[in-house]
Amino acid sequence: MEPIITAVVVPIVFALGASIGSFLNVVAYRIPAGLSILSPPSRCPKCFHKLRKHENVPVFGWIWLGGRCAHCRSPISPRYPIVEASTGLLFLLILFMFVQTPTLMVGYWAFFSWLLVLSLIDSDTMTLPNPLTQSGLVAGLVFQIANGFAITSSLSGAAGYLMKGIAGAVIGIWLFDIISIVASIFFGQTAMGAGDAKLAATIGAWLGWKYLLVASFLACGVGAFVGGGAIALGLLSRRQPMPFGPFLALGAAISAIWGEALLSTYLQLFFPVT
Ligand SMILES: [Zn+2]
Repeated sequence: MEPIITAVVVPIVFALGASIGSFLNVVAYRIPAGLSILSPPSRCPKCFHKLRKHENVPVFGWIWLGGRCAHCRSPISPRYPIVEASTGLLFLLILFMFVQTPTLMVGYWAFFSWLLVLSLIDSDTMTLPNPLTQSGLVAGLVFQIANGFAITSSLSGAAGYLMKGIAGAVIGIWLFDIISIVASIFFGQTAMGAGDAKLAATIGAWLGWKYLLVASFLACGVGAFVGGGAIALGLLSRRQPMPFGPFLALGAAISAIWGEALLSTYLQLFFPVT
């Protein structure tokens, strides 16, 4: 991008991402609690004081308030501005990686939003709510149609991409059913919840089965490393379950952005073309 365009676009995209992040905070708080995500407007969870416009501005609202409710002065978790700022930065990363392919860029903004909110909820509650995995899967299939049409400019091309998404979703369910059966044979307990299979299906719908496999390998690797580290440091007991969704989401995010490079490096290592 031209420097002048960058100077205009970067703050706009960051603000867009931070606003979406603010909405994801609301979704992550209200869906597990069974509350509506549309009403009432943002308020203090302690005293129900409604946030005024300037207090509701992503990141800056929290700083403005000094991390406390203006009414009852009870602390507001720094997680809110952190999620908002992180979403803004993720949106910028996707902007710079995919600015040449706008359909992919906008699609990944949506995909990463689903991944982020599912990670937050899984970390909080050890569940991946069906309404979110299901809507994410449908959005992934719609994305495949739009992206297929953008790439091939033909309906049959779009249908081909849709099939790729459906195959990815089906393989996601199978893969995690097989993993949980194998794990229950070896460990005598189900290592993975049904929600993980549904998240894998959602990732398959967005990325196709190849990148789903890359995402799953990364998730297992990082999950084993972090879980092992947490047990070694005494932060987690061996019997304590750990949510797998955030690792799967991280694997999906990495393979969405760098999947091609990872796959070709991997294939070069094991099947070198001479
Ligand atoms: Zn309050």
